Amino acid sequence: MSRLLPAWSDDDGAARVRALFAESFAAEPDGVWAAPGRVNVIGEHTDYNGGLCLPIALPHRTFVALRARPGRTARLVSAQQPGLREVDLDAAAPAGTAGAVEGWPAYAAGVAWALERDGLAPAGSLPGFDIAVDSCVPHGAGLSSSAALECAIAVALDDVAHLGLAADDAGRARLAAACVRAENEIAGAPTGGMDQAASLRARAGHALLLDCRDGAVEHVRLDLDAAGLALLVIDTRAPHRLVDGQYARRRAVCEDAARVLGVASLREVADAVMAGETTPDDVLARLSDEEQRRRVRHVESEIERVRFFVARLRDPDALRGWSLDKSAWALDASHESLREDYEVSSPELDLAVTAARAAGAHGARMTGGGFGGSAIALVDAERAEPVAVAVQEAFAGAGLRPPAFLLADAHGPAGRVDG
Ligand code: ADP
Ligand code: MG
Repeated sequence: MSRLLPAWSDDDGAARVRALFAESFAAEPDGVWAAPGRVNVIGEHTDYNGGLCLPIALPHRTFVALRARPGRTARLVSAQQPGLREVDLDAAAPAGTAGAVEGWPAYAAGVAWALERDGLAPAGSLPGFDIAVDSCVPHGAGLSSSAALECAIAVALDDVAHLGLAADDAGRARLAAACVRAENEIAGAPTGGMDQAASLRARAGHALLLDCRDGAVEHVRLDLDAAGLALLVIDTRAPHRLVDGQYARRRAVCEDAARVLGVASLREVADAVMAGETTPDDVLARLSDEEQRRRVRHVESEIERVRFFVARLRDPDALRGWSLDKSAWALDASHESLREDYEVSSPELDLAVTAARAAGAHGARMTGGGFGGSAIALVDAERAEPVAVAVQEAFAGAGLRPPAFLLADAHGPAGRVDG
């Protein structure tokens, strides 16, 4: 299993950020906090449509060592980024405006900014801080290293400023909303709410069924190990650029289609179909724009697939000797829909999925926003390695750089890891 990217233990991660903190600031941090990346099992591009998604928190996490300091300056170092950066928290300005924070510190300054903007901490009350960051979440791989960074900082600030929000799920939902705001407004990435919810609200051994209309969550038992299964994550290492116009364009087309259909969000369309009040064909017949038709067909059918998949997970007999052929198709169908109708796949993602299926995966799909990033394959546990080898060979055969692999099982949420 040497080809699999390992996840750091609490001790490993804490030792790394403590060492980086000491070297950078010649001091001891107040503590160390960590937050997981996430992988979405099913329900893609549904979050900003008020739909359903089913992420799990990865064992791979971002660690931060943080010390509060007088004043309103944040000093930041990351093992993944060069140099020491300094940001004035009072000067944090929205992306695209004069004074916008450049680069990765926007995610950190953005969280402090959003906590105050959302009224979770009184304006101007959060302390400045020194922070050292290190992470084993692959960057830009669609596994949400950005949310892992924001959420680790959110729980750290919550702790040092005694906000008490991380103590329960309702508070964590508010922290997640602040992290979304930080990413949208300060970092300038128009992402939905799935990533931050997974990182802050997941439960070990469970997938998180997130209802993006009202933020309600349900923890759905997902014990792959007991079922003799593994979820292989294939990071294609092809760049994905969610900050560019494609993601924003998908959102805008969905919003336009919802307006034409007279609904607040495309979620309502999926609910109406489920309730038997209309059919997908009838809905599509009301749209004259071909692009809108295809995007709507994806969103509506994807929400249905989440419901189907969750129903299978809830059925204990379905997991025992899981009749995979009867449910893993939903992963395959999700991929086809994202490739054909939503047009967010890429040649690398398609190759990863095809090669994994040919090597015996029960189902496989791209995951995350797309345009590069990662795919997942649901495999018998003992097939994880051979499937990874097959995918690697397919990439080599196509002249592509080797992908990276990791195994995902459902881990717990962001929190303090020492002290
Ligand atoms: P993804 O969330 O899929 O990994 P994004 O493009 O959304 O990809 O986020 C990646 C960005 O998040 C990086 O370019 C960087 O700005 C920031 N980031 C994530 N993790 C770290 C880290 N450990 N140190 C510094 N910046 C990070
Ligand atoms: Mg991200």
